[in-house]
Amino acid sequence: MQNTENRIIIIGAGLTGLTLAYYLKKAGKNVLLIEKKDRPGGVIQTNTENGFTYETGPSTGVLSSEELADLFEELKNDCSYEVANPTAKKRYIWKNMKWEALPGGHDFGAVTTPLFSLKDKLRVLGEAFRPKGGHPDETVAELVNRRLGKSILDYAVDPFVSGVYAGDPAQLITRHALPKLYALEQNYGGFIRGSIAKHREYIKNATPKVTKDVFSAEGGLQKLIDALTQKIGNENILTSCENVKAETLPVGFKVSFSRDTEEYNFSAQWVVSTVGGYSLASLLPFVPPAQMHHLTNTTYAPVVQVAAGYKNWTGIKLDAFGGLIPTKEKRQILGILFPSAIFKNRCPEGGALLSVFMGGIKKPEMFYKSDEEIKQIVLDELKITMNVHAEPNLLKIHRYRHAIAQYDIKSAQRFETIRHIQQQYPGLILAGSIRDGIGISDRVKQAAHIASEIIQTL
Ligand SMILES: Cc1cc2nc3c(=O)[nH]c(=O)nc-3n(C[C@H](O)[C@H](O)[C@H](O)COP(=O)(O)OP(=O)(O)OC[C@H]3O[C@@H](n4cnc5c(N)ncnc54)[C@H](O)[C@@H]3O)c2cc1C
Repeated sequence: MQNTENRIIIIGAGLTGLTLAYYLKKAGKNVLLIEKKDRPGGVIQTNTENGFTYETGPSTGVLSSEELADLFEELKNDCSYEVANPTAKKRYIWKNMKWEALPGGHDFGAVTTPLFSLKDKLRVLGEAFRPKGGHPDETVAELVNRRLGKSILDYAVDPFVSGVYAGDPAQLITRHALPKLYALEQNYGGFIRGSIAKHREYIKNATPKVTKDVFSAEGGLQKLIDALTQKIGNENILTSCENVKAETLPVGFKVSFSRDTEEYNFSAQWVVSTVGGYSLASLLPFVPPAQMHHLTNTTYAPVVQVAAGYKNWTGIKLDAFGGLIPTKEKRQILGILFPSAIFKNRCPEGGALLSVFMGGIKKPEMFYKSDEEIKQIVLDELKITMNVHAEPNLLKIHRYRHAIAQYDIKSAQRFETIRHIQQQYPGLILAGSIRDGIGISDRVKQAAHIASEIIQTL
């Protein structure tokens, strides 16, 4: 066994593992990343083909944490941050066979929009005076119904939840899934009061870093992965590792795995897992099954992501971020992003790049459809929603069985179990999107915090 004191082993070289490794390496720590696939990056991957630069996983992030802003600042010489085109701010919602713009905060759209019922528009006026909810496990659907009304749930929150979680608002627990929304009601008495107070706080204390901008990296999110990988050093990232397993030692851990035909064993003082709940039982066989059950039973939304590229765009005007489709509209897809409208150089001049999302918690069967079936569904849906009748010049299908962890009723028990396991086995950290949020910003924030914790201890 290769024995090195104070080694930190990170399992999983997605954005969480890479960010953590970057900060540990920067602090001079002995860090080793162990990855199952043949490349680092996890679900983030950008490909360039035939004049199109498309993402196969996440397309955008939101600059909603200082930690993410700091990371971009650190990497600025290797990776340029790209803010979404201001002309692509609008969000469309599909209703009665056409796109309607989701009202923004500063216009009369909220009054005139056909998305919401008159009754709910009037209800919104009284939102500030509605009492606080008292049930900590209230779902997003229950909370929105109670404070705003059914049409706002159906035509704003349901599609938003599809866009973020590929989830179901009736299953997501607000305090876990949308903690900022939950806090608006709990801390300020309502969404309107809370939003006004938050805006005032923001102006007063403005951390200019947390801009809430939608972003990518110039050339795609892969550039962020490449920059992190380069800083960490390839010698510290082992890819194509199979049967990764940790065991406890009297002090620290032993991590074993196979790679090509060789078996490897490393000792480590810290082991940080960033993998999904479904991978943990084989990775941590020493954790009793009764505890492990609360991690492996994490619900995941399956997602099929389809990149569709057109060299000569003839469909509707792409003047928005994209469009989301409420469940009530009973279509086969969850939504469409317009990456070529949001970012530069994603398609040939005069063309378009779309990113279509399908499946999710409400339509998991999409994951099991053949490529031919997926292609047909996408073409049919794009004809109706985007008025495009030509075949795309590029069509790439990517399936994720475990795309997005759901912060549902099982989450509280999961978080509690993670706390217990970490106390039982000092030096073991269970990270990744099984806790602390699922977005890019959440992942970087979690990694930065774990890095500080380890650096302070070692
Ligand atoms: C299709 C899709 C679209 C998304 N869109 C967005 C978006 O637009 N905006 C946004 O903010 N977020 C989005 N997300 C969420 C996004 O996944 C996260 O923000 C982030 O990229 C996840 O990083 P991670 O490192 O935690 O996990 P991952 O990227 O999943 O990385 C985990 C790594 O662990 C490895 N691994 C797993 N098991 C083992 C094992 N036993 N041994 C060794 N290695 C193992 C995996 O191969 C993987 O490389 C999207 C996710 C998906 C799937």
